[in-house]
Amino acid sequence: MERLRALAGHERALNEVTQELHFGSVRMGAASIGAMLVTCADESELECEEAFQRGFVQYVLPPLKFAHRAPFRIANLGGRYEWGAVRIAEDHYTKPRREGEFEILVVKVNSHVAIDESDRAQARFGTWARYGEMSTSCGALTAMLDDASNPFIHDLREAFVSEGVDRTAPLRDANQVDPAYRMLFAAMVSARLQARKAVLDIQDHHSGTPTLYVVLPCVTINRVERDTEILCGIYTIDGRQGGREAVYFGLGDDPAKYEVRYANRRMTVSDDQVGAERKGRDHRSLVLSTWREAGRARVTKIDDERLERVRRDVTHGKHRDHQHARTLLRAALPIFAEVAPVPAAILLFAQGAVGIHHVFRVHRLAREMTESGEAREVLDEFHQKVDALEPERAEALLELLMKEYAH
Ligand SMILES: [Zn+2]
Repeated sequence: MERLRALAGHERALNEVTQELHFGSVRMGAASIGAMLVTCADESELECEEAFQRGFVQYVLPPLKFAHRAPFRIANLGGRYEWGAVRIAEDHYTKPRREGEFEILVVKVNSHVAIDESDRAQARFGTWARYGEMSTSCGALTAMLDDASNPFIHDLREAFVSEGVDRTAPLRDANQVDPAYRMLFAAMVSARLQARKAVLDIQDHHSGTPTLYVVLPCVTINRVERDTEILCGIYTIDGRQGGREAVYFGLGDDPAKYEVRYANRRMTVSDDQVGAERKGRDHRSLVLSTWREAGRARVTKIDDERLERVRRDVTHGKHRDHQHARTLLRAALPIFAEVAPVPAAILLFAQGAVGIHHVFRVHRLAREMTESGEAREVLDEFHQKVDALEPERAEALLELLMKEYAH
């Protein structure tokens, strides 16, 4: 994928990116290739979808039926990755493997922005004359920056403010981001963040199949003539030996750092990160260290007779008898939820006992410790899974929780 890396930050024709993806994937020598495409629902993304189909999918994917090869698709408002999608997609494209064989799963995540070049001196991004009227593109990202209220906006914003960094602030600040470029940079940041969600989902998913994952955040530039595209970066996760480490090469997610240059009417966007390879972080342990470093991870004191009964059983080792740990967990969880849900939610997330889709929520909890309602949602999900826990796992989690809550 070296030649794809060379495209990071450079505006190119849509078919150049898909062709490099095609050649790069074939060179890797995979036994099969699967693909997922995430785009905005906006009709202007048709060109992006067609380029992916014609430049990549139709050459390398297995036939779904006679003369039909198809990527797994998500098209929604703003091009949001949906938690769990990569697991289903991988399941579809996975076949039994012979020794040494592997598959590639490509996840291309596009956001989009229109360019208006009617003013020759200064191109503007975010609006274009569609069907003879000016309209926004991407309308979903524009609505988010306009502080509109809607479930999809909540979803987009959750990614934009993830890990305690509000990436919408520099986008709204003319001193940090030139308003002419605001929507271009918003689209780039959004693609990066939605791709990161896909990466977190992959890292948390142990499919048992040898798969090399390639995740590409991209921005389609909707033009009056043919659309173009900026590849923001490339994530690779080499799961051929079961590893889950993510390596990223490309632009960062701070819009204040982006710089645009023009050569031959094509843009190049750069920042202080492009050109360097970076390792992805383990968000489950990161949440725990954020919480501990914030100095709020004191042992939580709960004076509750019901919890004392659970504690006595654990102290006397009774939780190891006949799957008693699960019964005790079911008894203790409502008490934590009632009195102090945040430490339990953080601990259970760090231990991998609840889904990765809670990652942004739990990051927020680890920093702010205030959102008890959100912590209760995490505990609720765990409560529903208690019956399915292995007895040893239930014992270990119970012991950890009882250490966290003193009397
Ligand atoms: Zn859109």
